Amino acid sequence: MGNPILYIVIPCYNEEAVLPLTSGMFLKKIKDLAAAGKISDKSRILFVNDGSKDKTWDIIRSLAEADEHYRGVCLSRNRGHQNALLAGLMTAKDLADVTISIDCDGQDDINAMDAMIDEYLAGMDVVYGVRSKRETDTWFKRTTAEGFYKVMKALGADVVFNHADYRLLSKRALEGLAEFREVNLFLRGLVPLVGYRCSSVYYERAERIAGESHYPLKKMLAFAFDGITSLSVKPLRLITLAGMLVSAVSFVAIIVTLITKLVGFTVTGWTSMICAIYFLGGVQLLGIGVIGEYVGKIYNETKARPRFIISETTFEKEKP
Ligand code: UDP
Ligand code: MG
Repeated sequence: MGNPILYIVIPCYNEEAVLPLTSGMFLKKIKDLAAAGKISDKSRILFVNDGSKDKTWDIIRSLAEADEHYRGVCLSRNRGHQNALLAGLMTAKDLADVTISIDCDGQDDINAMDAMIDEYLAGMDVVYGVRSKRETDTWFKRTTAEGFYKVMKALGADVVFNHADYRLLSKRALEGLAEFREVNLFLRGLVPLVGYRCSSVYYERAERIAGESHYPLKKMLAFAFDGITSLSVKPLRLITLAGMLVSAVSFVAIIVTLITKLVGFTVTGWTSMICAIYFLGGVQLLGIGVIGEYVGKIYNETKARPRFIISETTFEKEKP
């Protein structure tokens, strides 16, 4: 068996400012790794154009024309980071022995790939890129991210702290991942469920090389909420518990009210009554909201829509 074929999978959305700066780095890395005899020279860089509105796809196409190490797939429309990444991984699954996924903005230290490949060659199927420092992120992003990981852990979802989507996956890990059919994708929660031997490689996260983050606060919150509700049903259970607690308290309150009535105090109780109504109304609404969130997810899953549609590629897919 020769050296493994590596595919570096890179989702790109409106990255015309970034691609010309970072594409060369990826190329150099793949050539260096091949020269060091760690990977095959059939290794490739696979860009996924996630329905960009700017010149991203044109840039990818001209890169692919200029150098055979570059390849591109184009999605039929914007499907979001997670789906774009999955599209790339599923394309690479049939072509590569091992993949590394990374963002195209230069924030994740590309030199960590050497250690990832070493781990793979030592027998690992999954290698997580973990950020050892996040000084370049704002205080706000750091704290909210930390809170998010803590909530996920507390709710029983197995996520690797400070790991985003920079990771190595072997072919059989990809085949495992392909068996997960969910539409509400949260890859960093799914990959640990695939199993196999895994390890971590540490790196420092840098500033975005150009352009702007596609994850403003609103999207970050939605992402976190999606992550939690697609990986854990504990919130439903918490609501049941809260419901039981509130019912018990209300039951005691009813008894107390009855006793005061029987003992003969005239009840002036408007305040307590209105409080109870508000409180119970609030708890119920919260409960319905959370349940609705899950029902919505079930609705989406039952439709089983395709998670991505590839409209174009820069290469012919070789027949296996
Ligand atoms: N991205 C994508 N589709 C989207 C949004 C983002 O493919 O709808 C890509 C983007 O081009 C980048 C990666 O996902 O390569 C991470 O996005 P970004 O850097 O904006 O997120 P951040 O690093 O700020 O969390
Ligand atoms: Mg980024």
